[in-house]
Amino acid sequence: MSIDRAAVDWAAVRAEFPLLQREVHGKPLVYLDSANTGQKPAAVIDATDDFYRRHNANVSRAVHALGSEATEAYEAARGKLARHLNVRADELVLTSGTTFAINLAAYSWALPRLEPGDAILVSRMEHHANIVPWQLVAERTGATIKVADITPDGVLDLDALEAAMTGEVRLLAVTHVSNVLGTVNPVREICRMARKRGIVTVVDGSQALPHMAVDVAAIGCDFYALTGHKMCGPTGTGALWARREHLQARPPFLGGGEMSRQVSFGGTPFNAPPHRFEAGTPNIAGHIGLGAAVDYLDALGMDNIAAREQELLAHLDEEMGKVEGLRVIGKAPGKAAVVSFLLDGAHGHDLATLLDLEGVAVRSGHHCAHPLMAYYGVPATCRASLAFYNTHEEIDAFIAALRKVRKLLA
Ligand code: PMP
Repeated sequence: MSIDRAAVDWAAVRAEFPLLQREVHGKPLVYLDSANTGQKPAAVIDATDDFYRRHNANVSRAVHALGSEATEAYEAARGKLARHLNVRADELVLTSGTTFAINLAAYSWALPRLEPGDAILVSRMEHHANIVPWQLVAERTGATIKVADITPDGVLDLDALEAAMTGEVRLLAVTHVSNVLGTVNPVREICRMARKRGIVTVVDGSQALPHMAVDVAAIGCDFYALTGHKMCGPTGTGALWARREHLQARPPFLGGGEMSRQVSFGGTPFNAPPHRFEAGTPNIAGHIGLGAAVDYLDALGMDNIAAREQELLAHLDEEMGKVEGLRVIGKAPGKAAVVSFLLDGAHGHDLATLLDLEGVAVRSGHHCAHPLMAYYGVPATCRASLAFYNTHEEIDAFIAALRKVRKLLA
């Protein structure tokens, strides 16, 4: 693929995604569920396929040729992701995704440190993956959970957040981009506020990485979690970046092979980070695919991707605004291309099911964000989420399907 950064041929880019060529229920697929999981370009599919066909071996164990090829490719993928995030490769622990990454921070950093009287601050707009691990830690340490609220538009209230950063708060868990509202939180400013008070910060980058260039070093957080499958990579991939001092923390989360240097029944010295936190055989092929996804995104240019998505989002917003009885939840300025909505008189699941019959894939449900649904007083929403490979025509097809379904449900 050769892509001119200055003028990306988005039709050619779309053609790189085999799955987007298929039909659903006899209609061309309109895939508007990329916030759930993204589709994969041929380059990513080929990279994992090539690994299994030509290089498959375990990493860091075998001295034979295949073993060193596998190790080299796996570590090269870590390096690509590290460069993409502007962090050091040896501070990047490869995980099965964000859920594992946040649990890793919770169990290796928070669990051994927090005590009764300490508090963990989370925002109202967190995904369950950035709430439940902290509740589990709180239960076991005697710490409490505090919640920073949002405005009705879906903006994190920074004054309230700062006011909530009281003396007992040891850790702040906040999402970079909301999977429901599309809100882009000013994580740099938030982490600066927290750092001034000695509060450790965990940023959930799951929904940021697919949409924009992210300079983790510039954010100034302590931990940054991400998942590969939303950024064109395979499922079961992701990472936790952590400040060096936190990675030296003991005990590691999981024990096993790879994380230990010399095991004896008298005691086991641990391997150096990041391998200390990668016990067992990792998802080698998956992370090699994630490395290919990073190459793919970098070749397109994250700024080009962001601009393309903003242009698509403007079209989607405008057209949705013309549909009667439709209410959008989440109106933060500068939001990412994720639109949650309700349609008068229609249950989210019915709406999504009928849209599916028109070939349109949207997600309906609570989006693993029950506290946010409770704030808006709804059990569920429908969500249309875009990626750079979507088109204006798909948005028009979605709107036409929405109008048709609205009539059916009326
Ligand atoms: N955080 C956010 C904001 C998400 O959108 C998701 C995925 N829906 C997750 C965490 C969890 O990611 P994973 O299931 O890949 O671990």
